[in-house]
Amino acid sequence: DLGSDVEIDAEIDEEIAEDHLLGGLLIDSTDDIEVPERLVDQVIGQEHARDVVMKAAKQRRHVMMIGSPGTGKSMLAKAMSELLPKEELQDVLVYHNPDDGNNPKVRTVPAGKGEQIVEAHKEEARKRNQMRSFLMWIIIAVVLGYALLVANNVLLGILAAGIIYLAFRYGSRGSDSMIPNLLVNNADEKSAPFEDATGAHAGALLGDVRHDPFQSGGMETPSHDRVEAGAIHKANKGVLFIDEINTLDIRSQQKLMTAIQEGEFSITGQSERSSGAMVQTEPVPTDFIMIAAGNLDAMENMHPALRSRIKGYGYEVYMDDTIDDTPEMRRKYARFVAQEVAKDGRLPSFDGEAIEEVILEARRRAGRKGHLTLELRNLGGLVRVSGDIARSQDADLVTREHVLEAKGRSRSIEQQLADDYIERRKDYELQVADGYETGRVNGLAVMGEDSGIMLPVMAEVTPSQGPGQVIATGQLQEMAEEAVQNVSAIIKKFSDEDITEKDIHIQFVQTGGSGVDGDSASITVATAVISALEDVGVDQSLAMTGSLSVRGDVLPVGGVTHKIEAAAKSGCTRVIIPKANEQDVMIEDEYKEMVEIIPVSHISEVLDIALEGEAEKDSLVDRLKSITGSALEKTGEG
Ligand code: ADP
Repeated sequence: DLGSDVEIDAEIDEEIAEDHLLGGLLIDSTDDIEVPERLVDQVIGQEHARDVVMKAAKQRRHVMMIGSPGTGKSMLAKAMSELLPKEELQDVLVYHNPDDGNNPKVRTVPAGKGEQIVEAHKEEARKRNQMRSFLMWIIIAVVLGYALLVANNVLLGILAAGIIYLAFRYGSRGSDSMIPNLLVNNADEKSAPFEDATGAHAGALLGDVRHDPFQSGGMETPSHDRVEAGAIHKANKGVLFIDEINTLDIRSQQKLMTAIQEGEFSITGQSERSSGAMVQTEPVPTDFIMIAAGNLDAMENMHPALRSRIKGYGYEVYMDDTIDDTPEMRRKYARFVAQEVAKDGRLPSFDGEAIEEVILEARRRAGRKGHLTLELRNLGGLVRVSGDIARSQDADLVTREHVLEAKGRSRSIEQQLADDYIERRKDYELQVADGYETGRVNGLAVMGEDSGIMLPVMAEVTPSQGPGQVIATGQLQEMAEEAVQNVSAIIKKFSDEDITEKDIHIQFVQTGGSGVDGDSASITVATAVISALEDVGVDQSLAMTGSLSVRGDVLPVGGVTHKIEAAAKSGCTRVIIPKANEQDVMIEDEYKEMVEIIPVSHISEVLDIALEGEAEKDSLVDRLKSITGSALEKTGEG
């Protein structure tokens, strides 16, 4: 048993649990939920990655974790460090080398011994200094006495005393250099080290030797005292975590390889012109387990040797983005809220309804029916913002209202931009959301990852002088061409019109930002073209998204939830989506009454819904409206 079940007093009735948002948990607030002690037991989902981490900790293997940000990669790495034996921890000391000051000696001792050794050396130095001072004052007294009483010369006495004083001071400096530098101190560690070297520069990763501004003349700091440990040394016997491993420069990756292979790595000054570059220590142990992380393209830019090293001697795992929405999982999400409250330390507890609202949001953010999002860093952000709002109101508990308010505030940058943009366009009445217009269709697109935007498309068809052209604005040219091609294949079968002999102008009414996705607008373009070609109006209270096949099938697209919400915000009352996306719709309650969602599977249905009035008998539109996918296929064959 991995011990990560939610601990509760009441027995759970599985039948009730099925429909219950908290999975059958009977609790008043997060106070009633026990948070497991070990980090590895706090991890939600990611069963595979968790098993790998536990196995790799036992076998001391490296791990490569690939997945979206905020899904628990660094959390698992830290959890691994808690699983490693604490008994093996070591302290590392750097000593002055009397034979070669630029080649300090390195010694490792069991954890806790390092401090004692340094203390002993300091004590000895203190005693020695005391002895020296004692001796010094005696000599000064004798010399002064001699000068005053025997030679009867005050000036000579003071001069001699001064020289003796300086000689002693200067001489004692050397004895300080005998105190070793405690490079790595594990005396107070409760578990094996966890070092996060994400984005670390060479010095922070590989160790460094500080520059000495006074390189001679008795003022210099001895070189062993200027040596600094890198993350690879601090992670000795523990875990070295590096996210975005591909951003680490190749030279550092090579050196990291060496450290992994040799299990030790000398420290030298990293900046070439500093005095530190002359110094090189004896090898310092680097016996760590590496957890490298990144997204998919991290693997491409990673040093091949380093990658194959991990492959050959370790594990590679994918992180999940979502997980099945089961009662047990929802109980864990309730525990997640409790964990985040405990971790923050200043937030009020969440009441049951507030937890439910967070779980609803986890569902929504999954973007997939029957799933919960595992991008838990962001969900944790929602928990904190909700808690902060409650705190600012001096509330004892975080309630549903606080979470709802927080949702509004914790919108992503893209979402804020999109909302702002919609607002602005409403002001200028650029948005049309009623009546009919020829050649104009309200398309929908996704900006960033989590915000939809309404993107009207306008089409105009003109006779062409030469071979017909598709002329589109901006970077959407390619997509427009493809959409027109598909629609012209369909049109060809139903009319004598050959739109390849016409110029088709397509304009995407500019969005504030760029980054609009491609083919999810192809039914929009097709509808606009047919409307323009046949001079029939398009319902402007309607918005649509969907991809189009040559046969006229409407194919699924991404981001339907965000797109529908954008349509609703812009004032549309109906939205066409691909039937295959029906199960992905997870819009907020407030939008449910604002829009009617119409799932379709063929372009004929789109035209039927979008175009104005009854089509003239036997017109292209009439024929297109009445076909089905299979009819089209038959016509195509015949
Ligand atoms: P990553 O390294 O994948 O970017 P982190 O491990 O840094 O993500 O996650 C950030 C925070 O989000 C964690 O400290 C934890 O509070 C929460 N979190 C992320 N994933 C999980 C998970 N699978 N289970 C529980 N909490 C998680």
